[in-house]
Amino acid sequence: MKNYNVLHILEIYHIYKDMDWRERREFYQYKCDYYQFFVKLILILASLASLSYLVSDYQLNGNTILPTLIPRTSILIPMFLYIALEPKLKSYKWKALLNYLLLNMIVLATIWSVYHLEIKTHFSEGATIMNFIFLICCLGARPCFGAVGYGLFFAEIFVSHQFNHYENLDVILSLNFPCFAAIMLVHCILNLGEFERYLTSKKLEHALITDPLTTVYNRHRMNQLIKDNQIISEEQVISVVMLDIDYFKMVNDTYGHYGGDQVLHYLGKTLMEDIPESGTVIRFGGEEFLIILPGCLPEDSYKKIEEIRKKIAAAKDTVVEFHISAGVVKYNGDFEKSVKAADHALYHAKETGRNRVYWNQEF
Ligand code: GH3
Ligand code: MG
Ligand code: MG
Repeated sequence: MKNYNVLHILEIYHIYKDMDWRERREFYQYKCDYYQFFVKLILILASLASLSYLVSDYQLNGNTILPTLIPRTSILIPMFLYIALEPKLKSYKWKALLNYLLLNMIVLATIWSVYHLEIKTHFSEGATIMNFIFLICCLGARPCFGAVGYGLFFAEIFVSHQFNHYENLDVILSLNFPCFAAIMLVHCILNLGEFERYLTSKKLEHALITDPLTTVYNRHRMNQLIKDNQIISEEQVISVVMLDIDYFKMVNDTYGHYGGDQVLHYLGKTLMEDIPESGTVIRFGGEEFLIILPGCLPEDSYKKIEEIRKKIAAAKDTVVEFHISAGVVKYNGDFEKSVKAADHALYHAKETGRNRVYWNQEF
């Protein structure tokens, strides 16, 4: 269990500060995807709940709801527009904009209603309650967006004072400014807490799809690639490679299991360094690696793997000299068939002498 204190929060802040804009965008999208449903639900409920003020309007205006009926119910129009539009937007920025727009619409509908109230002093209570919804809205948003969305609330109070002439503007402001400051501080602290949750989930996700010994991906990643349909050959050519250490059993028998592990680690590291960035290396089995190379023609992949084979065969910084064999094919649109074909090509390389790469041009 983590011990939370100010130092720990500062530590998280430093990690947050050092992120580049791409990582930040990813974090805010993650946070928005997680909270948006709750924020949306609460904003819709808050819009509907604002209609209940018709009861207090009835009491303040001398037993009639007519003057505020249209201003109060006007919130239903932006609310339905929000319900229709929100699912179409994917980016956290647009979602936040829409959330704060609906929230400010609730504020404006309230201000419009207050205009039609005989006693306007109770706006101070109504406005203070709004702070709760601003607090909820901040859950899915970036603090700077929150500050702008929230800041509008005060602009609306000042502008509406020109025609609502609040007798107690000083009270309204003295009640709401501390709420604003406190909620913005809570917003920033919650944001850091959420950021830590995001970092933990990234680490777990990475651990789940990574093989700890070789540092390449494991079969979970391969299943993800297949499930999420990330291997699509229509747009670009893809090469599939199956690679295996030759006589690895002998390495284990001669240098022990630990020696064998060091060889596996060395090979994993070399593949990660030498395979193009767009490629994916997966530990397919014990000492067998599957390599997927999007955008790589099989002849180029053959040359690349041949380079790696030569480099490994000539390496002097390993615990034991070893060599590899590999089979290369062009991805044909069917993952299972392509992997099988690469495996057959690998066996051909083994049968024809090992320490070689075979490219099956017929597949
Ligand atoms: P070939 O040239 O035909 O590929 O022969 P080979 O000896 O490399 O292949 P074989 O399938 O006979 O042996 C593979 C060995 O890899 C057997 C197994 O104990 C070993 N192995 C599998 N996973 C690991 C591991 O994580 N660490 C170590 N040290 N050995 C492993
Ligand atoms: Mg082997
Ligand atoms: Mg093998």
